[in-house]
Amino acid sequence: MLWVAIIALVMTVLTVAVAGRRALFLYKLATVGPPAPERVEYAKTNLGAEIKAQLVEVFGQKKLLKWTPSGTAHFFVMWAFFILLTVYIEAYGAIVQGAITGRPNFHIPLIGTWAVLGFLQDFIAVACLVGLVVFAAIRVKNSPKTLGRDSRFSGSHLGGAWLVLFMIFNIIWTLFLARGAAAANDNLPYDSGAFVSRALGDVLPQSALLEEIALLLHIGFMLVFLVIVLNSKHLHIFTAPLNVAFSRRPDGLGAAPEMRVGGKPVDFEDEDLDPEKLGRGTIADTTWKGFLDFYSCTECGRCQSQCPAWNTDKPLSPKMLIIDQRDHAFQVAPYLMAAQQGVEHKDTDVLALLEKPLVGEDGVIHPDVLWSCTNCGACVEQCPVDIEHIDHILDMRRYQVMVESSFPSEAGVMVKNLENKGNPWGMSEMKRAEWIEELDFEVEIVEDKMPEGTEYLFWVGCAGALEDRAKKTTKAVAELLHIAGVKFAVLGPMEACTGDPARRLGMEYLFNMLAQQNIETLNEAGVKKIVATCPHCFNTLANEYPQLGGMFEVVHHTQLLSKLVDEGLLTPITPIEQKITYHDPCFLGRHNKVYSQPRDIMAKVPGVQTQEMHRHKDRGFCCGAGGARMWMEERIGKRINTERVDEALTTDPDTVSTACPFCMVMLGDAINEKKNNGEAKESLEVVDVAQLLIKSVKGAS
Ligand code: SF4
Ligand code: SF4
Repeated sequence: MLWVAIIALVMTVLTVAVAGRRALFLYKLATVGPPAPERVEYAKTNLGAEIKAQLVEVFGQKKLLKWTPSGTAHFFVMWAFFILLTVYIEAYGAIVQGAITGRPNFHIPLIGTWAVLGFLQDFIAVACLVGLVVFAAIRVKNSPKTLGRDSRFSGSHLGGAWLVLFMIFNIIWTLFLARGAAAANDNLPYDSGAFVSRALGDVLPQSALLEEIALLLHIGFMLVFLVIVLNSKHLHIFTAPLNVAFSRRPDGLGAAPEMRVGGKPVDFEDEDLDPEKLGRGTIADTTWKGFLDFYSCTECGRCQSQCPAWNTDKPLSPKMLIIDQRDHAFQVAPYLMAAQQGVEHKDTDVLALLEKPLVGEDGVIHPDVLWSCTNCGACVEQCPVDIEHIDHILDMRRYQVMVESSFPSEAGVMVKNLENKGNPWGMSEMKRAEWIEELDFEVEIVEDKMPEGTEYLFWVGCAGALEDRAKKTTKAVAELLHIAGVKFAVLGPMEACTGDPARRLGMEYLFNMLAQQNIETLNEAGVKKIVATCPHCFNTLANEYPQLGGMFEVVHHTQLLSKLVDEGLLTPITPIEQKITYHDPCFLGRHNKVYSQPRDIMAKVPGVQTQEMHRHKDRGFCCGAGGARMWMEERIGKRINTERVDEALTTDPDTVSTACPFCMVMLGDAINEKKNNGEAKESLEVVDVAQLLIKSVKGAS
């Protein structure tokens, strides 16, 4: 068997050389950009969470298993990779032993003749084959040729995916051929357990040559597959666990990432700050974590299938956002790496490629793609390899806004209003307390310090204080707190926008300014606990202010009200005989995992019949207002709020409920349009869960 060993050795050495060269290239490319020390630091300080993420997401395939058929198939195919490593140890061992002793009857020391291992190997190989059939069926059923844009594979590299399935198939059939031939020659280390290999051994002829050729084929296909993996989207086999390890925990949602320059949190006071370095302008501004995202994308399209922008015919696909950057990175890679080593490029085509903007009419990403994102988080939530699309989008927006001054002009009005008046509508700060006059009880306004005995600072928010529909929620919450005996105060004119719309637009400077001002006000007042009605305020106060040193205990009003109902401090008694469908606000649900409390409140109101929309909870569909989209025109495709209301109407509701002032506005506008067109009943309205509760508690009509 010496010739077999020589061929196997040559194949392996050649493949390791080719694969090693590719791996080195990928590493060098990934490290051309600025550092991301916070990712390593975070992983080190949260080791427990990282280990859990590896166990749950990588080994347990939690996210993939939400998609039952494809997730189950992937579970088995992935585990086949781990378990069948033992078969490769046996294959190489058999070749070496055959070359030395003339008989390839190698077994792994200690466990190598254990029937359980033999069974596991055969079982997982069969399961892998079944998985391949399922994958093929899913790909045929969801083919972009038949489904077009509705296929989650639309835009993916389809040929590469089929090649990979074919290669895995080759690995599995050669595995069985090699093990069956070994069984026929009495070289298989398992007397029992390896049920398929043993059965094949009974039908295959006794032939040393067959066993030798099968071993070489099995190893050969694996080596070719390794090279293909390193040059295709299947690179995720190696990079996905790393990407999961260095993702922001718990899931890349909630807080927007801190803005960093050269790996350090941006300091706008720093005189040496290079304004050109704000955000990402070209691919060279991508950190190694960004490249890990590129390398990890499996092109599965789960993100695309959930994206509200893609689902309403806008050009944004979160999958293509990643793939387009990756394809550009590979195209520019040789010149980029050479430039980093001091090579001065003179060729104008090369220079144009190196300087190609990430965003622009002729950029890697079209501006319409960038500005279509609502930051809803559906892509991040679904991505099985923890790619952080929103981080990419925000960093590109930061560059566009702060370096290029290029963003939808309508949003400029909002920015000016925030700068001048501290709210997006540009209203006087004195108007922030006007809603209080419409109440029949006193609400304390913080003048300097939180009044004695107050437990919560009620963060009203700009919409809650200034927008008519949202003011109804504000008054309902204030009244409910008053009834429950919860002592609270408001900041009134001292409250300013949290900065969420500025930050999501990419105007980090303005966000910093507003956030620091608010943190100072809150700290000076001695605020410890905050209740907020707006999920955007809630998210910013709870998750983003800690980045600037603002540490407060923040709850959303649905969390607090649900608790008060549970404690018997609020008792809904008057029946509301209505069919109600609840719309999950993205920044409350997906970004902060508050799904049950709004539903719990409604469940306690007598007479309410709830009916879920098809897309709800973690798969809820955005209203279209997030990511500062509230302040931009929606010119492309179907309006997102109309799409959401169309879905709500399929449940034939009397009322649509929600828990966010922006959702109220967006859904309310779409419902009014439907009413005008005669497509919705006149009595249909959108209300906050708090409004339902106060109606039932007070018995008001
Ligand atoms: S955050 Fe929402 S809108 Fe933006 S890309 Fe992801 S799914 Fe699409
Ligand atoms: S970004 Fe994630 S969800 Fe989207 S295609 Fe890539 S791997 Fe799939």
